[in-house]
Amino acid sequence: MQNICLLGATGSIGTSTLDLIRQHPDRFNLVSVAANTSVERMVEICHAFKPETVVMGDEKSRDAVAEACLGLSIQFDFGADAMSAVAADAKVDQVVAAIVGFAGLTSTLAAIRAGKRILLANKESLVTAGQLFMDEVAKYNVTLMPIDSEHNAIYQCLPQNERGAVKRSVEKILLTASGGPFRDFSYEQMLAVTPEQACKHPNWSMGRKISVDSASMMNKGLELIEACWLFAVEPDDIEVVVHPQSIVHSMVSYDDGSVIAQMGNPDMKVPIAYGMTWPDRVTTQVKPLDLFEVSRLDFSQPDMERFPNLQLAADAWYIGGTAMASLNAANEIAVDAFLKNNIGFLDIAKINSEVLEQTAVFPVSDLDAVFEADNMARQKAKDIINTKAFL
Ligand code: NAD
Ligand code: MG
Repeated sequence: MQNICLLGATGSIGTSTLDLIRQHPDRFNLVSVAANTSVERMVEICHAFKPETVVMGDEKSRDAVAEACLGLSIQFDFGADAMSAVAADAKVDQVVAAIVGFAGLTSTLAAIRAGKRILLANKESLVTAGQLFMDEVAKYNVTLMPIDSEHNAIYQCLPQNERGAVKRSVEKILLTASGGPFRDFSYEQMLAVTPEQACKHPNWSMGRKISVDSASMMNKGLELIEACWLFAVEPDDIEVVVHPQSIVHSMVSYDDGSVIAQMGNPDMKVPIAYGMTWPDRVTTQVKPLDLFEVSRLDFSQPDMERFPNLQLAADAWYIGGTAMASLNAANEIAVDAFLKNNIGFLDIAKINSEVLEQTAVFPVSDLDAVFEADNMARQKAKDIINTKAFL
C-alpha cells in the first residue's frame, strides 16, 4: 500500500491521479490533497476520498471547504507552508507534484528533501530550479518519476537498473510534439486566435496554462529543458519531432541505429500509473491502442518562425543560470495576460524574448537566486505589457 500526497488535486493531472487511486484501492491510499481555490471540486474530492488533510491556497477557500465538509474527519489548512508540510509528512510514500507553474516549486522541493518518491508533472519547478533540483534529488536519494508523457516515454525507452532509467549509448532523444491547435495556421491566422481556441487541444484535455503553452510550443520548450535536466543531455542532443496523432509519446535513438518508441492512446493515466507503480505496471482502463484505427503516423519538423518559443527555451538553456527561471516567469505572466484577453497570442513569444534579453542572469547558487530571478522577470513582463512596449 502506497500513501499518496496529491498536490494540485483539483486539476487535470489531479483528476487522472484520483481516477487511478479509485481504480486500485488495494495499492493506493490518498493521505493528503492540496489545491489553490477550487472549492467546489475539493469538496467533491473530500466526500469521495476522505483524505486526512486538505490544504487550500488561501484562508477563505480553506474555510469554505471545511464548512462544506462538516462531519468528515479531515484536517484543513491553507498556504504554501502547509503544502510543504503535507508533502514532507512522514506517513507519505509518494508525492504527485501536479500544481501548475512556479507555485509548485517549494512543495516539490520539500517532498524531495523528505525523500519521497516524486511523480513530477510540475515541469516548471524543474525548469526553473534545474541543477539545484537535480542535486537535491541525488542528495536525498529520491526516485524521480517523470509524469510528463514525453519524458515518461523516454524513461520507458531507456535501459533501467533498480534505481531507474540509465542513459547508455544514446545517439539522440526524439521529443515528440503534437504541434497544438495552430499547427497548420498561417502567421496571419495566429494573430487573431482567442483563448478558447488556444485551450482546445486536438489530442489532450489539460489545464488552461499548459494548453496555451502547447499552442505556442512553449510547452515543448519547457519540455526540452525538462529533458535536459532529467536525462543529462543538452538541447543539441534532442530533436523535436512534430507528430500530430500523439500516439508515439517520444523516442530514443541509439548509437547502433535502433530507435525505441513508446506508444499508446493519449491519456495521462498511463504515465501517472507507470510513475506510481514502477517497476510494476497496473491496469488503467485506457483504451488499448488500435493501430488499424490509427492507420498512419506522421512526422515533420517544427516551424521555428511561427513558434519562436522553442528556440527561446534552447537559448535559455545555453545561457544557463537563472535564464530559464526568467523565461518561465515571463511566460507565466504573458499566458495569464493572453487568457485575460489583454494581449494577443503572438505577443506571448515577443514578451518572452524581450524578458529573456533584458533580465540579468546570475548563477542558481541557492533557491533565493531562483526566486529573485522569477520576481524580476515577472516585473519586467508586467512592465512590457502595461506599456505595450512589445508592439
Ligand atoms: P490545472 O490547471 O488543471 O490544475 C492545476 C492545479 O494546481 C489545480 O489543482 C490548482 O488548484 C493547483 N494550483 C494552482 N496554483 C496553485 C497554487 N498557487 N498553490 C497550490 N495549488 C495551486 O493544470 P494541469 O493541466 O493539471 O497541469 C498541472 C501541471 O502538470 C503543470 O505543471 C503542467 O505543465 C503539468 N502537466 C500537465 C499535463 C496534462 O495533461 N494536464 C501533462 C503534462 C504535464
Ligand atoms: Mg508533455
